Amino acid sequence: MVKRIAIFGSTGSIGKQTLEVIAEHKDKFSAEVLTAYTNEKLLIEQALKFNPNIVVIADEKKYEVLKDALSNTQIKVFAGEKALNEVALMNCYDIMIAAIVGYAGFQPTLNAIETGKTVGLANKETLVVAGDIVMQKAFEKKVAIIPVDSEHSAIFQCLVGEGRNKIEKVILTASGGPFLGKKPNFLVNVKRDHALQHPNWSMGAKITIDSATLMNKGLEMIEAKWLFSLQPQQIQVVIHPQSIIHSMVQFEDGSIKAQMGLPDMKLPIQYAISFPQRLTSNFPRYDFKRPSSLTFEEPDLRTFRNLVLASEALFKGGNLPCILNAANEVAVFAFLRNRIGFLDITAVVEKTMEKISFIEKPTLDDYLESDAESRNFAASLIQL
Ligand code: NAD
Ligand code: MG
Repeated sequence: MVKRIAIFGSTGSIGKQTLEVIAEHKDKFSAEVLTAYTNEKLLIEQALKFNPNIVVIADEKKYEVLKDALSNTQIKVFAGEKALNEVALMNCYDIMIAAIVGYAGFQPTLNAIETGKTVGLANKETLVVAGDIVMQKAFEKKVAIIPVDSEHSAIFQCLVGEGRNKIEKVILTASGGPFLGKKPNFLVNVKRDHALQHPNWSMGAKITIDSATLMNKGLEMIEAKWLFSLQPQQIQVVIHPQSIIHSMVQFEDGSIKAQMGLPDMKLPIQYAISFPQRLTSNFPRYDFKRPSSLTFEEPDLRTFRNLVLASEALFKGGNLPCILNAANEVAVFAFLRNRIGFLDITAVVEKTMEKISFIEKPTLDDYLESDAESRNFAASLIQL
């Protein structure tokens, strides 16, 4: 049976790589829904190539041009945020690849879970914003959330076959990003283009900056807590600059399992849509005959303070991760527009976390409000 895939965020880095995987396995997968924010050109190109059932463009101004370009096809065309949420509720697909970046991906992902779809989760922000609500909903609806994030896919793969065996801890590996070993006196002058150059991965702009500030690893700690029902103290971060070990699980007998491979997001994407099967791939293989070493070190928490802030949010819980995420999105956006410096990102997040009221057991509405309030406050700090 062909699995019908809905790619929310098909024009992004994860979205495009998902289409590459589908193209390699046309007998197993079809692209049923494709969505984009503003890039109608690429969406049209993808639609003509993959012939989905539905395309959605979030930016309503792009509707006419999209509709015209696809007028000779059977493809249904929708526009706007509302349409994005509604299409997520439809029954025309089996698996959602949640590949929208940031908070914008939250509601469509929650809607997919609501209607019982399997979710391949790239959009980690969804779990950072309201992990308890998302996981509770997934539990109620018996929905599998299969991680696409490489670290979490690694942990997920290490856990296959382990049944109820207890996890002592998970060890999330981090490349350290382009500024590994640098100190604040260097980072203060870092510009956008330098921060956008990641040594091992080619990704969208937001996550690339998050990787440079180590906020990405902070968000991933929170993501891991929810995905694998962990206590905060069971989550450790280790710097592993080669990005060959994608993460590890240590069990209560002390045994450590690691999942390894060359850094290539197509692998966790393919695993998420083919699970529990593994499919063939022509991705390059890691070669143990080539001299190389795998190294590990502690993160520099004095320099990369985002990791400390994210740990605080992880341990304290409530709406604090939601506040952290919202402030970070605003700050990263401002940095990408050269409005603030690299170290200001952390300052904006920290001040917003201090300012916005803490709620220990937030409802969904509390989360939505905390997100909006945090964005407003962070923006006022930057004077956007
Ligand atoms: P990207 O910026 O390359 O793509 C983002 C996609 O989301 C695009 O298709 C864009 O059109 C869409 N989008 C953006 N804002 C939107 C909005 N307001 N409404 C509707 N659609 C919108 O990002 P990416 O690198 O592909 O990352 C996507 C998600 O996957 C992120 O949450 C990221 O953290 C996660 N992730 C990415 C990678 C990677 O290698 N790129 C690895 C692990 C996790
Ligand atoms: Mg990751």
